[in-house]
Amino acid sequence: MADANHAAGTRTADVLTTDVLIVGGGPAGASAAISLRQNSSFDVTLVDKAEFPRDKACGDGLSPGIVHLARELGVETLFENYPLCDSYTIVGPDSTTVSGTIGAVVSATGTTAPGGYVIPREIFDAALLARSEECGAKVLTGHSFKSLLQDDEGVTTTVAASQKDELLIRSRVVLGTDGANSRVRSALGVPATPKKRTGIAMRAYAEFAPHSKHDMNRLWIVFHRDLLPAYAWLFPFANSHTAGNNDSEGVAQMANIGVGCLVKDRETSRAWFLQQLENFARQLEQHGIYFSSISSEKTYLLPHGGKLPKLAHNRTALIGDAASMINPLSGEGIYYGMSAGHMLAQIFFAENTYSSHNEQAALKKWEDSVRQRFAKHLRHNYIGHRLMRHPKWANTLTQTIAADPKVADKAIDLMLKEGTLNFASFARVLRKLFRTSNK
Ligand SMILES: Cc1cc2nc3c(=O)[nH]c(=O)nc-3n(C[C@H](O)[C@H](O)[C@H](O)COP(=O)(O)OP(=O)(O)OC[C@H]3O[C@@H](n4cnc5c(N)ncnc54)[C@H](O)[C@@H]3O)c2cc1C
Repeated sequence: MADANHAAGTRTADVLTTDVLIVGGGPAGASAAISLRQNSSFDVTLVDKAEFPRDKACGDGLSPGIVHLARELGVETLFENYPLCDSYTIVGPDSTTVSGTIGAVVSATGTTAPGGYVIPREIFDAALLARSEECGAKVLTGHSFKSLLQDDEGVTTTVAASQKDELLIRSRVVLGTDGANSRVRSALGVPATPKKRTGIAMRAYAEFAPHSKHDMNRLWIVFHRDLLPAYAWLFPFANSHTAGNNDSEGVAQMANIGVGCLVKDRETSRAWFLQQLENFARQLEQHGIYFSSISSEKTYLLPHGGKLPKLAHNRTALIGDAASMINPLSGEGIYYGMSAGHMLAQIFFAENTYSSHNEQAALKKWEDSVRQRFAKHLRHNYIGHRLMRHPKWANTLTQTIAADPKVADKAIDLMLKEGTLNFASFARVLRKLFRTSNK
């Protein structure tokens, strides 16, 4: 078998055959693996370059829709040890502060998720991956994607198991779920997300100080002038694995805190991010929130999905961050990657792809469904994100949200659910903007 990128001195030891090869075991890849195993007879192999459990720079915020998906994937018990996050506080650049409730999301089957959760990715991703193994997927960690070659009957993928050993994997389909710096994406010739559509953010884990007046059910989103159109966040979670400021049951009260910005806006050094985090912690003190420690700072990219690239490429599909499926306004990407992976398995099932061998048509149908469901929503979030570049707009929006609960609900629907821009709310913000501009 030919391999375009075969390096000198490496040994090609084995050829493994599977129906579906998934490259990347994050939420997108693991959800696709679980769903494919639950809904079909496909033999599934998942490779990831990392050993699990592994950390991933993230806000760890899981929106209400993920609660429904987790139920379908059989990992809903994960939420049992974490506080429900059903309220929010948004702070505008001019310090206008508005609080509200996120509101329930009702699934197609009628179940209700009253809010979201915050679970460290080290725990969440490992649980999803373990579930995919439990469902019968073959999981190969420590295996790194190198190249792929598609033909009429299937795909031959080369993965490196170590510096010297390579494994060839022959499959009917490949799913590229290898994240923001996707090598599957570049192997398909799909250009990386342009800088103007790519965010970058630093997250850290903070422990609340004993005298801190925080609320474990509240997400904080703080739009600071220096970060626009992005924001700083505080997402609380209970950590039973850490010693420290524990409650009566020995659970540490922690928060994932972070700061983001657009890649193209500035030279983002580690020192700059650390300073922004420090500024954010000082700003929270004005609201009575104090930390006793801040650690584990980590930075990574967020390819925004204002415009999705081509997803289905013959027998290969891009899903999750590999396909820029991140909401530009909220920075949320887990839900879209998990949903798209789950949708792919459902379409393969509905199209009887296992027996009919119509993989290419099914992938095309899947791409159409993903676009139909998410493209407008993501595009509208991109418009919202563009507007948030302007401090005046960001101030007026926060003030309008503070004055009008209906606008607040629509903004939350847009950012954290599957909402689109609401004309009446948009007009209200515009009116207020013109009124204040003319004063
Ligand atoms: C700082 C920050 C904060 C964020 N906060 C949130 C948030 O609060 N909520 C939210 O929903 N989203 C958030 N996001 C976005 C979210 O992290 C991503 O959208 C999500 O991780 C996408 O999942 P994925 O499965 O597509 O990719 P990933 O989670 O990145 O998983 C990709 C996997 O592929 C593996 N891989 C990579 N290269 C290879 C290779 N060559 N061979 C084999 N395996 C490979 C990696 O090891 C990894 O396990 C945030 C992102 C950042 C950077």
